[in-house]
Amino acid sequence: MLRRQAVHEGRILVLAGNAAAQAELCRLLGAPDPNTADANRVRANFEVDAVTALDAALARIADARRRGEPYRAVFIDLVDGSSGAGAMALDALWHADPALHLAVCVENHDPDRGGALAGRFAGHHALLVVEKPLAPLAVFQAATVLCDKWRMERSAAQANDRSVALAGTPQVESDPGSDLDALTGLPSRSLGLQRVRDCIQRAQRNAQTFAVLVLDLDRFKLVNGTLGHEVGDQLLVTMAARLRQSLRGGDVVCSASTLSRLGGDKFMVLLENLGDSRDAARVAQRLVDAVAEPYTLQAQQIVVTTSVGIATSGREYVRAEDMVRDADAAMANAKSAGGAGYVIFDAAMHQAVTNRLGLETALRDAIRDDQLTLHYQPIVRVNDGRLVGFEALVRWTDAHYGTVPACQLIEIAEETGLIHPLGVNILRMACRQLVTWQQRHRAARDLSMSVNVSRKQLLDPELPGKVAAVIRATGVNPHSLGLEITESAFLHDTDAAIARLEELRALGLKLELDDFGTGYSSLGCLYKMPIDVLKIDRAFVTQACTRTDHARVLEAIVSIARAFQLQVTVEGIETPEQMAMARALKIDRAQGYLLGRPVPPEQAEALVRSPAVLAPV
Ligand code: C2E
Ligand code: MG
Ligand code: MG
Repeated sequence: MLRRQAVHEGRILVLAGNAAAQAELCRLLGAPDPNTADANRVRANFEVDAVTALDAALARIADARRRGEPYRAVFIDLVDGSSGAGAMALDALWHADPALHLAVCVENHDPDRGGALAGRFAGHHALLVVEKPLAPLAVFQAATVLCDKWRMERSAAQANDRSVALAGTPQVESDPGSDLDALTGLPSRSLGLQRVRDCIQRAQRNAQTFAVLVLDLDRFKLVNGTLGHEVGDQLLVTMAARLRQSLRGGDVVCSASTLSRLGGDKFMVLLENLGDSRDAARVAQRLVDAVAEPYTLQAQQIVVTTSVGIATSGREYVRAEDMVRDADAAMANAKSAGGAGYVIFDAAMHQAVTNRLGLETALRDAIRDDQLTLHYQPIVRVNDGRLVGFEALVRWTDAHYGTVPACQLIEIAEETGLIHPLGVNILRMACRQLVTWQQRHRAARDLSMSVNVSRKQLLDPELPGKVAAVIRATGVNPHSLGLEITESAFLHDTDAAIARLEELRALGLKLELDDFGTGYSSLGCLYKMPIDVLKIDRAFVTQACTRTDHARVLEAIVSIARAFQLQVTVEGIETPEQMAMARALKIDRAQGYLLGRPVPPEQAEALVRSPAVLAPV
């Protein structure tokens, strides 16, 4: 996204018939009075604009949508309007933005008016009537509820469609101004979607072949990040012009094409009346080539590439959003195949998309119903082979999808935001388990517990507070707790990440750098990161016994760790030879199938109860 979003609960527009009513609403919503402009007042969570006339309101709403920062709610106080005029105003507002939520203020001695409005819009889910004289709490609650509802509807629609919901309300073609993207002048996302919708409807009457292409620049974030947003914007404008140009040019394969901007660096092309669905691929290749020509922006040459996903009408789409979602999924495949190319959505991808949506829902339910469990993999001290701790690893078996691999589960949880509640749950379970074992078995007193913390969790500024709360609630000794983090957590936002890690470490726990060696900033990481333990990835161990180059790398990593005074744990020990090598290198701790697989709590407890040497010397 190019535009930085302001942090607040939502944008609200106040439409009041006179200045006094306007000031009153602004005050109750925590905004400065626009008439006296006492801008020093502390602002509440809402960003409030105010107007006194319907025309002005409609213009503001259209403008806000165009800028991609739509209002969530409008508070209306038409002091002396009749209910008929009020109803017309509401219609006009929804016409301007179908996703708006409205709060209408009415005199409580005038129940007819409120009743009439409510009756007229009965069943409309996006209207609240607030009685006057206005009570601060009622106004604040209405604002919160409406803004929240707006946000939930939007994210539900995005989750379902991977596209912005249009609340099923057709766009109005008579107002093209609000349907153009401000930066590129191209049709906006909503107009683009409307064209797809129209095309689907036409095709239902007269069969025709059409296609939707979704384009996304490869590594656009890098351009924005290194050259600045201004250059990023220029790039998008130039790119839009090129796309438009190449859709016009030469061998025309379709009767009409619409290029629109979906947002950020994402564009969409609708190709109508294609002679042959393979023509869509030809157009896609032409667009890929057009984008790949070098750009000269602010006296610099830049080369960028684009990935294209194609969905064709063969799948008999009913909803435009589904077609765009599929093109988007194909685009993502093109990207992971290295970018600078196109991919056509096919049956296998369809299966994958459906599967994925189903998995997301199942995971949500499973977390809610506490269906996820932990397995514990033993960690041993290399020099005497004794059990010194466990790593907790999440496990989930779904009735329909079967056992879902931990890394896939975590990926879905990260993408859906479920990782935050899930992460805390996992930590709590693991800590509670360790405390239970320590209470039951003397031999468990010195055991440690390592818990994985994902990248997304580390982005949460509240993570240290949450971890502290778990430590308090479970009574676990923080010195026996380790948090495993990966290098990828430090790719962005390094200073904040380091500060957060320091906070975590101050709780008394150990920080372990997991999968060391698989990322691409390993050494730099060691200088900057406050870590205690380095976990060497299994990849280095697997061939260390058979290939001397791998063995040397392993050796080098260990001596680097020593130089930084870090403890070393090695992962993926599967053979006695590998264990012998770990000994020879004087590695501190080891983990792997040879020493023990991840097992359910009962089996892990058996190891705790009668501590055995897991790797005889
Ligand atoms: P990881 O943290 O590096 O965990 C080690 C993975 O290697 C585990 O896979 C483990 O079962 C496997 N493993 C252990 N010893 C051997 C061996 O000798 N040979 C082989 N081939 N594999 C071995 P698992 O449980 O499938 O977890 C995969 C990854 O998923 C983990 O890698 C971790 O990144 C993530 N993960 C697992 N549980 C959690 C969790 O509770 N929270 C978070 N955030 N991530 C988790
Ligand atoms: Mg780990
Ligand atoms: Mg690991």
